[in-house]
Amino acid sequence: MQKNKIWLSSPHMGGTEKRYIEEAFDHNWIAPLGPNVSGFENDIKEYLSGDDTSVEVAALSSGTAALHLALIMLDVKPGDEVICQSMTFAASANPIAYLGATPVFVDSEEDTLNICPARLEEAILDRIAKGKNIKAIIGVHLYGMPYKVEEIHEIAAKYNIPVIEDSAEALGSTYKGKNCGTFGMFGVLSFNGNKIITTSGGGALVTRSEKLKQKAIFLATQARDDAPHYQHSEIGYNYRLSNISAGIGRGQMEVLDKHVGHRREMNKFYQILFSEFPGVKVMKEPSDDFYSNHWLSVVLIDENQTGGISREDIRLALEKENIESRPLWKPMHLQPVFQGTPYFGNGVCEKAFESGLCLPSGSNLTDGDRDRISAVIKEIFTK
Ligand SMILES: *Cc1c(COP(=O)(O)O)cnc(C)c1O
Repeated sequence: MQKNKIWLSSPHMGGTEKRYIEEAFDHNWIAPLGPNVSGFENDIKEYLSGDDTSVEVAALSSGTAALHLALIMLDVKPGDEVICQSMTFAASANPIAYLGATPVFVDSEEDTLNICPARLEEAILDRIAKGKNIKAIIGVHLYGMPYKVEEIHEIAAKYNIPVIEDSAEALGSTYKGKNCGTFGMFGVLSFNGNKIITTSGGGALVTRSEKLKQKAIFLATQARDDAPHYQHSEIGYNYRLSNISAGIGRGQMEVLDKHVGHRREMNKFYQILFSEFPGVKVMKEPSDDFYSNHWLSVVLIDENQTGGISREDIRLALEKENIESRPLWKPMHLQPVFQGTPYFGNGVCEKAFESGLCLPSGSNLTDGDRDRISAVIKEIFTK
């Protein structure tokens, strides 16, 4: 008999989600507005805000929608350029193309696998010299690992370019004690099914400005002017989160910190498991300034040190035991759809793509699951 599937990252309900949904049914709030939507926004606001940072949150239908609205509010137009980390999920870059602008992709650095400060500045100088208009920088906290916030934001400030922080994978991660998602002019969260918490599908835009939050909600609800009839002076979108989804989100916020704890334990499990085997590096925080939610645990394989065992050997051996694992995000500058777009780099993300593997990291994995994973790894490396 086939053993149960062990997923990379699967939904993990806390228990109270149904209560919020039942409330919505009881009061017939089956709409893209209602008390769960504002309640969920408030839960996230309270979670992210710190002693000296207060943020505003607009709940939306997806993280992609949040990125799209952020770029619209930064007035990104055809002919403009937006700098984006190359190693990321396509959703980080697609909204640039929705607006007819050109993405300019930038390589990663080795410590966090996120946008490299040196290559970023190189890209900015090159594009400015070519007379291009750079409207925004999109940095991504990939797999929950914060990018080098201080360095990146210093460069952005030096050239006066706003930062959109793609924190879709990093809810619960911090840099120097402050929450990821609160550093940029806009922060983006995702509650897709595989993320650290889920609303089955959903996202949020984070900003420090109440005015920008209101603008985002205006655009997300078809840009209706203040009039008794339907009147529109701008193009609008249908991007608001439903009150049912937001109810799931309210329950999930109650268990977010527990989920972060479990994912961090999974990372520790891999650190210990692979410490016995040379040639496998389990990615971890480069210093105490970084605190990752370890949404996914990532290993980099050096075949010269593993005695020839490759990333694919490990992936296929896990697959045979019905355990899901996956190569890292394929860099955007290597994607057929983005062929010919400008790229600044020197091979860091290409190498990580070739040698890296994401391992099962869910907060709902059991001791039995860990035993199965551990058995497969031990068998490959001691054969
Ligand atoms: C999931 C994800 C998104 C998109 O979020 P959706 O809610 O799926 O639209 C954007 N960027 C990154 C890095 C993601 O992982």
